[in-house]
Amino acid sequence: MTRSVSILGATGSIGRSTMALMEAAEPGAFRIEALVANRDVATLATQARRFRARFAAVADPDAWPALKEALGGSGIELAAGPEAVVEAASRPADWTMAAIVGAAGLRSTLAALARGGTLALANKESLVCAADLVLETARRAGATLLPVDSEHNAVFQCLAGCDGAGIEKVVLTASGGPFRDWPLERMARVTPEQALKHPTWSMGAKISIDSATMMNKGLEVIEAARLFTLPAGQIEVLVHPQSAVHGMVQYADGSILAQLGSPDMRTPIAHALAWPRRMTAEIPRLDLAALAKLEFFAPDPVRFPALRLAREALLAGGGAPTILNAANEVAVALFLERRIGFLDIAAVVEETLARLPAADPDGLEGILALDAAARAEAARRAETRAALA
Ligand code: NAD
Ligand code: MG
Repeated sequence: MTRSVSILGATGSIGRSTMALMEAAEPGAFRIEALVANRDVATLATQARRFRARFAAVADPDAWPALKEALGGSGIELAAGPEAVVEAASRPADWTMAAIVGAAGLRSTLAALARGGTLALANKESLVCAADLVLETARRAGATLLPVDSEHNAVFQCLAGCDGAGIEKVVLTASGGPFRDWPLERMARVTPEQALKHPTWSMGAKISIDSATMMNKGLEVIEAARLFTLPAGQIEVLVHPQSAVHGMVQYADGSILAQLGSPDMRTPIAHALAWPRRMTAEIPRLDLAALAKLEFFAPDPVRFPALRLAREALLAGGGAPTILNAANEVAVALFLERRIGFLDIAAVVEETLARLPAADPDGLEGILALDAAARAEAARRAETRAALA
């Protein structure tokens, strides 16, 4: 039976890995309904033609002429702008990959969930900034939400057959990023090029910086708390440089179940794509004998304050996670533009959280307003820090 699939964020790291898996699957297993990108028309057009997509959209209205030029006359329906992204997500499909980066993916994540079906969630920021709304939308529509983030996908697999009782804790592993062993003085001078070079995973720019600051793990603690309905105290983070164990669940009887695999997102994506079955993914297998050892350390709270900030935001609740996420997106973008230093990223987030009231935002409009206010405040905090540097 052919499954219809839509990919939001098709041209990115997760989007391309998803399409590579579909290409290697049995012919006729999948067909593409809709593909979305921000403005990479060349990649989107190649993907749309190759998979005979029915609909292709770009979020950036300026990319519309290029899209028309590339795919006009192909029979593929085309559209541009933020509404086109929501339209792509709203078209009926059995399975949707939410792989847009940042809170920019929120409206399409909600639109896809609202029509039921299965949503594979890579876009953790939409869950962090609007968890109640995302989960309530899924519940109301009877949609299935499958975590793609490798740690959450691992925990999801380790929870198979568990009715929610008897869970002592969940462990999310972190590679520790490129600066795992760097002294703080050296971290202050980190360049975007150094921060983008992740030791074990190949990913998009934003999540690579988040991994280097460990804000990625902070966002993931919030993601795990909301996906698995666990208090912050039952979610542990361990630095695990080999990136072989992705997540674990410790049960009341002392058992610890772990999921292992190569550090390759095609495994969790394949899990979500075939769920509840399994499909073949032609990726290098984990060679445990070659690996020889698996190490685990507690993260350093002094050099990686982002993890603490995320835990505090989770405990504060209300709009705090929305503010944390928005301020972080702004700070990461400014760091990539070399406008602020590496250590300024967490500082900007902390200052923004301290300055904005974190009252619970009301519905989507309230969340979007708080997100915008946090972005403006973070930009001001960053400017002040840049002026002082
Ligand atoms: P990426 O930067 O490689 O790709 C992002 C995709 O989103 C691109 O297709 C881009 O065109 C699209 N996009 C960007 N802004 C958009 C907008 N405003 N509207 C519509 N589309 C837009 O990012 P990625 O590494 O593939 O990450 C995507 C998401 O998956 C992120 O939320 C990230 O945290 C999460 N994730 C990624 C990995 C990974 O290994 N790359 C692992 C776990 C989770
Ligand atoms: Mg992850």
